[in-house]
Amino acid sequence: MTQRKLTKLIKLTGKIKLKTATRVGGNDGSLRIGGVDLMCIRDPVTDLPYIPGSSLKGAMRAAIEKKEGRWGRPKENHRGQFEDNPKEPCMCGTCAICRVYGAHKNTQSRTGPSRIVVRDAHLIQEDQKIGKMEIKTTNTIDRKTGAAVHPRMEERVPAGSMFKLEMVLSVYNDDATFEYDEKRGEEALLEVIGTSLGLVQEGAGLGSSVSRGSGQIELIDPEMEEIEKPKVVFKPISSHESK
Ligand SMILES: [Zn+2]
Repeated sequence: MTQRKLTKLIKLTGKIKLKTATRVGGNDGSLRIGGVDLMCIRDPVTDLPYIPGSSLKGAMRAAIEKKEGRWGRPKENHRGQFEDNPKEPCMCGTCAICRVYGAHKNTQSRTGPSRIVVRDAHLIQEDQKIGKMEIKTTNTIDRKTGAAVHPRMEERVPAGSMFKLEMVLSVYNDDATFEYDEKRGEEALLEVIGTSLGLVQEGAGLGSSVSRGSGQIELIDPEMEEIEKPKVVFKPISSHESK
């Protein structure tokens, strides 16, 4: 194979609107602060909640893997046997999803580096009301007695809140022959990403408790722009104005 070369960088932007209150960024490990069991993740500088890029990328990947039947595929061990892999992303290193999102833990991947970088999505404060958090108490129901047990308090970002979506797509020379869903090359990469986000929007959702109605999102104003020859220009020190 000829050397893989980066040919283009494309910036993809938009706004993520929460249609339902959502706990963003946390995992289900119990994190208890001031009586609240499950907190949202917050930017340490602004103290506002944000959606970590890794969470969003994970939700996009899981959604398209389920559609394509790649999620939790049996994986081949070093003896050539197939083992169950119920909660792991695909790591075949050859499929469309491995090409766009990276081949997970497969170091022998033929698809090369992950094509997409998903940045942390920060809260857009258009309205002072937004940013105020909701606390919701959730219960587990005891199947035998029907009683609510293990109540826990969960912090959620209210419906209507908006976050800034930003992703960067890297296109390599060997993507020219890549095909997905009747698209080819760069358009095929964009099709994988668009399908993933569409599935997250249409029901796969974000964060925990999606099956209970949390984490429903809407994507607003999706746009793309090519990043022109990225470079940093260094200026001579003498050009700074002295104070
Ligand atoms: Zn794969």
